[in-house]
Amino acid sequence: MPNIIREIADSAAALAKGFTVTFKNLLGPTVTENYPAEPVHFEDRYRGIHILRRDENGLEKCVACFLCAAACPANCIYIEAAENTAENRISAAERYAKVYSIDYNRCIFCRYCVEACPCDAITHGQGFEIAAYDTNALVWRKEQLLEPAPAPPEPHDRPPRVLPNQVPNPNQGLPTSR
Ligand code: SF4
Ligand code: SF4
Repeated sequence: MPNIIREIADSAAALAKGFTVTFKNLLGPTVTENYPAEPVHFEDRYRGIHILRRDENGLEKCVACFLCAAACPANCIYIEAAENTAENRISAAERYAKVYSIDYNRCIFCRYCVEACPCDAITHGQGFEIAAYDTNALVWRKEQLLEPAPAPPEPHDRPPRVLPNQVPNPNQGLPTSR
């Protein structure tokens, strides 16, 4: 009989312990993301879809050195290099990546490519909406990976236009009408 009482007491204690955890989380803050109604919040180190970066002048940072492709254990980076010319300057170096593709059928988001890049040209973004029914759609091209080019300066950032009936005002540096 004492054994039965001890078993009942142990079971009650185990139940109380388990429900303590349940009620503690029940009353705590909600951490569930309300996706897709609201954007998902990622930690800074989240490894999402890659981004090919641009420098401060808007040129592509990638110099087509192939180090990322060599470091990739899944062999999913494809690059074709081309030479920059005076008329067609894409990167600040001698070469640029004319073709740069990542096959997300194979990518394991290991970050080795990011670590291998000497130019900080490729990083992980926080994009994750990559699911597709067609495996071809999982091969992302440079045009999809590349950071957008910086917008041209706003009109108010440009110097004022001098109209034919205006002469510069030496006191203000702004044109004035005759
Ligand atoms: S994250 Fe890893 S698997 Fe994906 S492209 Fe980079 S090196 Fe390859
Ligand atoms: S992303 Fe970086 S490592 Fe890869 S080819 Fe371009 S410069 Fe080289």
